[in-house]
Amino acid sequence: MRANYHTHTPRCNHAEGAERSYVERALAGGFQELGFSDHTPYFFDKPGYYSTFRMKPELLPDYVDILLALRAEYAGRIKLHIGLEAEYYPRLFPRLLDYLRQFPLDYLILGQHGLFNETEGLFSTRPTDDAKLLDQYRGQTLEALETGLFTYFAHPDLFFFTGDRKVYERHVRAICRKALELSIPLEFNLLGFSEEKHYPDLFFWRIVGEEGCAVILGSDAHSPMETWSPDLISKAETLLAGFGIRPIERATLHPIR
Ligand SMILES: [Zn+2]
Ligand SMILES: [Zn+2]
Repeated sequence: MRANYHTHTPRCNHAEGAERSYVERALAGGFQELGFSDHTPYFFDKPGYYSTFRMKPELLPDYVDILLALRAEYAGRIKLHIGLEAEYYPRLFPRLLDYLRQFPLDYLILGQHGLFNETEGLFSTRPTDDAKLLDQYRGQTLEALETGLFTYFAHPDLFFFTGDRKVYERHVRAICRKALELSIPLEFNLLGFSEEKHYPDLFFWRIVGEEGCAVILGSDAHSPMETWSPDLISKAETLLAGFGIRPIERATLHPIR
């Protein structure tokens, strides 16, 4: 692993450590690229509602400024990219893009933590056997990929479906085929892997291997030490090799302009 594009900062209220500490940690691991992708701000239209796990819009200028300064300071040693991890909320996405386009953002990764427009209170990580919600997750994320604005699909197996595996398989294959068609890598999430969350889901990754999708490792670092761990990377690579998957080392970034 020589590049990681999934890195957070304390602005999202559940990460720790200065940006510089993440950069130093990446350098210590011999990384050539580090991309920051903190949880994007959003503009919700439900009075009084704001998610606790994302930065406020007014924090974005500071985020960008600090990373631009670090990029200049570390030039020649490591390539720094400024991105965001964003959900695709259809009703709210155009306004978000209008805002984001004011900043020199190198990329977005898709991390679909909520369904619909989030304000309905339905989250991807809540276990459910409701196939209609799985269908919504698939439809919404594939529509997101179709926009061409996302560089990769982070933890595509975030939706916690506890129902019929046959139904699940159909949706997983649909996600894989769309990712293949659009040449969008799927992220094997190292944070979920180390913390033994419900994702990465091995059933999902077996299908990814069968379908032949591009796969990338993402640290999803919420602290500098989580930027990399040699044991974790080799464990992930061994597991993926068993499914015939060899992760790509670099992503082709889609800048937001
Ligand atoms: Zn997070
Ligand atoms: Zn993340």
